[in-house]
Amino acid sequence: MVSGSTNRHSGRKDVIMQNDASPGLYVHVPFCRSRCTYCDFHVAALRPGVVSEYVAALVAEIRKYADSGFRPRTIFVGGGTPSALPIDEWKLLLSTLSDSFSGDLVEWTIEANPESICKDKIQIALGLGVDRFSTGAQTFSEKGLSLMGRRHDAERVSTVHQWFSECGVPRTSLDLIVGWPGQDLESIEVDLESVRSIDPDHISLYHLSYEAGTWLHAMRERGGLKPLLDESCIEYSNTFLNGLADQGYQRYEVSNLAKRGGASLHNLNYWLRGEYLGVGSGAASFLKGKRWKNKPDVSAYISKAGKPDQVDVEFPDSQRTMTELIMLQLRLAVGLDTRLFSELTSIDFLDVCGGSLRIFAEQGLLVQEADRIFATDSGFDLLDSIILQFVEDVEKSWNAGT
Ligand code: SF4
Repeated sequence: MVSGSTNRHSGRKDVIMQNDASPGLYVHVPFCRSRCTYCDFHVAALRPGVVSEYVAALVAEIRKYADSGFRPRTIFVGGGTPSALPIDEWKLLLSTLSDSFSGDLVEWTIEANPESICKDKIQIALGLGVDRFSTGAQTFSEKGLSLMGRRHDAERVSTVHQWFSECGVPRTSLDLIVGWPGQDLESIEVDLESVRSIDPDHISLYHLSYEAGTWLHAMRERGGLKPLLDESCIEYSNTFLNGLADQGYQRYEVSNLAKRGGASLHNLNYWLRGEYLGVGSGAASFLKGKRWKNKPDVSAYISKAGKPDQVDVEFPDSQRTMTELIMLQLRLAVGLDTRLFSELTSIDFLDVCGGSLRIFAEQGLLVQEADRIFATDSGFDLLDSIILQFVEDVEKSWNAGT
């Protein structure tokens, strides 16, 4: 057995394992009023005529799968900005999902942006079976919100969570971003205090990245802003993680923390390489050994009326499966299941990656316990490099004909 230090923030003991779970359903609502400065997602302008045609096509696609017998265990309605849907489309989409699937669900999440969610929409959603709202706060610093092009102010996030509480929303999540230019320890303290007062049961803590095509990327290339140093990003991230741990949050995935059993079952299914279906323009699916995406084109999606073109179709072979398991499961505090790895690929993880694993364990980055390999806190800081090394090991072994 290879051993090492364990995680202060780890939620390993509490996370619900669900390798045999039935599929999740992701519903993509691509509309936003404006594009945030860091965002490279597939989004479209919010135009009323287009939105109602899009929701009609989405309803047709959902009904098609419901009629074929598809039954999800979890639903996640994301975007884009689902909460920006006008109230009629909000009702139509959610009542279609409720009529089609509600009996079999263990979790139903909707993403809500603070500026576009209201009490009416919350109550309609709750009445139809939604039990979890995820809010894109990103920061409680007005300077940070402005830099990231967000359309809400800090106070609005607290107001929305007050509504969640008054309406009886059972579970809530907040998204936060670490590493934006100009962020400092003082603003992180403000963020942590705001989290303490809102007290959601789930936090997603993302690192800002400068994706090509975004406003922030262009500004950085032009020298119009000064990115934080990598060391500052790590320091700030650790300040967040320590502050959240002090509030009782456990890190169950590299970017996600939960308290009161609030881990996202829908997202856990992705990281465990479970099956899921995506509906809507650009939505990705993995079902019965096949991966594909709906063509990311809102006009084409509308014209296909529920039968969108599929792109990026692939049937992962053993090599691809190994890579996916490494990339997905090492993100989790419970880590990679080496027994499952062998079952799915017919290859022993230790035969292929044992050498690198020993080195990472000696460096205190990874731990092996029984049939699990998981990252320590220091390992999470270097997770990309660890994953890259294992993927190289897999490729080398595959090419050598192991
Ligand atoms: S609200 Fe979300 S999806 Fe829309 S532009 Fe901003 S980050 Fe992108």
